[in-house]
Amino acid sequence: MIEFKNLEYQKEYKELAQFFLDDGDYTFIKNEDRLEFYSQNYHDEILISENFNNEKSNLKESIYKLLENYTKMKLPWGILVGVNPIKKFRKILNKNNDKSFDILSNKYLIDKSKIDLGLEVKKTQDPIFENIKDKTSIYIDIPFCATRCSYCAYPTYRLDDNLITDYIKALEKEVQESLNRGLEISSIYIGGGTPSSIGWRNLEKVIKLVESYNSEKTEFTVEIGRPDTIDKNILDVLKYYFVDRISINPQTMNDKTLKSISRAHTSEDIKRAFFMAREMEFNNINMDLIMELPGEISEDFKHSLFEISKLDPESLTIHALSLKKSSEIRLNGVDKKFGDNFSKIRDEFINLTDYVPYYLYRQKNINPFLENIGYSKPGYESIYNIAMMEDINNIIGFGISSTTKILQKNGLKKHMNHRNIKDYIENIDKDIKDKLILMEELY
Ligand code: SF4
Repeated sequence: MIEFKNLEYQKEYKELAQFFLDDGDYTFIKNEDRLEFYSQNYHDEILISENFNNEKSNLKESIYKLLENYTKMKLPWGILVGVNPIKKFRKILNKNNDKSFDILSNKYLIDKSKIDLGLEVKKTQDPIFENIKDKTSIYIDIPFCATRCSYCAYPTYRLDDNLITDYIKALEKEVQESLNRGLEISSIYIGGGTPSSIGWRNLEKVIKLVESYNSEKTEFTVEIGRPDTIDKNILDVLKYYFVDRISINPQTMNDKTLKSISRAHTSEDIKRAFFMAREMEFNNINMDLIMELPGEISEDFKHSLFEISKLDPESLTIHALSLKKSSEIRLNGVDKKFGDNFSKIRDEFINLTDYVPYYLYRQKNINPFLENIGYSKPGYESIYNIAMMEDINNIIGFGISSTTKILQKNGLKKHMNHRNIKDYIENIDKDIKDKLILMEELY
């Protein structure tokens, strides 16, 4: 347990401390201008930093330094916690421009390699921002999968015809009652779950709900995630409704791992699905990989990268494994520095390609040495991914757990739909009503 005494803003401090510490009892106590740290027979203290002009950041820096002393570990993202480091970079750059590098390095204690990475992501995003600012993106969640992967942290459901029918009915009501024609749509994204797992007839019903919002300039993505759900009928539907970006997500190209994480397909199936899509002229394909999957060492990841490079997708998203605290692998302990090998291999691979990083985010339960990065060939950056991470578009979300985010003069306002499928179906009127109140400013 990590305890903080005489401190406010505990959530951020705890998140930072958790990046360093394993299970055990730890206490931080603020005593006037000093911060003390206790762990079993260990005690250390430090003068509270005065580097920032706000107490929260000063305390974070002091916590970091105490824990660096204690663990002899440096975190590559320094004192930054939270999902989106690029937003912070943007703020610092807008305010300080030529001093930004020093601030990120000396105050936020961020490693040079991560500063360079963040600045590169920002540089890729800047011209896209201008084109999509103030527009609206649509997201639909299809929370069904044929089997459940062992590391999955999403709310997903096994295929059940009645449940799928009821879910699509609720979606239909939600879209019809809360989406208005006057909006300028910049992207549509159907994700999940595995949208293609519900079969082509059902997928077609879902696509038809929003296809009239798809114009020439709209990016339209459908995740057809697992190759065991991809066939010619699915691809025909996507082609017919002008879906121009698809995502085929192997996560790994090692058959042994695929089996051990309960994915009912092989790496050959991934290649087959990919080539079928290519033959049908899908020319904007994303693929996802995950670093540190259970049982994999960095050489396995290297093999996956090599196999993917032969397929040559337009974009490649490389995730760090995110695990709930109670998951088996976390309980067994993960060597935090282990992630370093994976990121080195990832970076060496990317340097040999024409992929550029265009969006980046971190999650709470990932290795602190890693992050999730979306890479693309120039011109194939996903508008939806940027809009969703950087909060520069309104996002209207449909389906379970989906978040509607509306940009208002006084900041971002959010509404999240029910997280459980039965609650969502039963409370659809309430979700629509709450969302419409939030969206009033849009219409
Ligand atoms: S395919 Fe994705 S959403 Fe479905 S069970 Fe696996 S990790 Fe979860």
